[in-house]
Amino acid sequence: MSPVTRPCGGCAMCCKLLRIDKCADGGELDFPFNKPADVMCKHFKSGHGCTLYGSEQFPNVCKSFLCLWKMTEVNVPEDLRPDKLHVIFESVSELPEFPGHPIARAAVDPNRKPDARFVGWLKNTLEAGWAVIANIGNRRLIFTDVPGMLQFLSDKEQAEIAEDVELVRRLGVRV
Ligand code: SF4
Ligand code: SF4
Repeated sequence: MSPVTRPCGGCAMCCKLLRIDKCADGGELDFPFNKPADVMCKHFKSGHGCTLYGSEQFPNVCKSFLCLWKMTEVNVPEDLRPDKLHVIFESVSELPEFPGHPIARAAVDPNRKPDARFVGWLKNTLEAGWAVIANIGNRRLIFTDVPGMLQFLSDKEQAEIAEDVELVRRLGVRV
């Protein structure tokens, strides 16, 4: 049975907020040009949506994008729709080293102050044993209460992507 998903409605945040790098290797990350963060994709048309949707040109990265808000079984509340919150909840993965503790990613609009609803979601998510990696512009914050996971994730992230890693042990720290 395919998962139940919510319709995007009037939201178009993933076509605007996310940075998407050009890739042409034919895989899941295929995208035909560099789209900067916080710039609406040139293929988005107001009142219509993605003009490439359903065509052969529809990029693989857009096909494979997993918006957690749409997945009702993940339980991101309805009122946290990405365009209302200016946060996109992205894919969940689980590390074999930390079974039962999924990791969610959140792309946060750097031009907006964090919303209390987002902080509430973060608290609930941490209490449920999840970790959250929040991307805020060029900053990356890692939230987790799972023993040993913060260090593990920071090492992994640093090795993979960036020197600019900021670590936050508990909520209450300004993001
Ligand atoms: S962020 Fe999610 S809800 Fe909003 S347009 Fe993208 S897929 Fe749809
Ligand atoms: S190609 Fe379509 S779905 Fe993909 S980012 Fe552009 S407008 Fe959005």
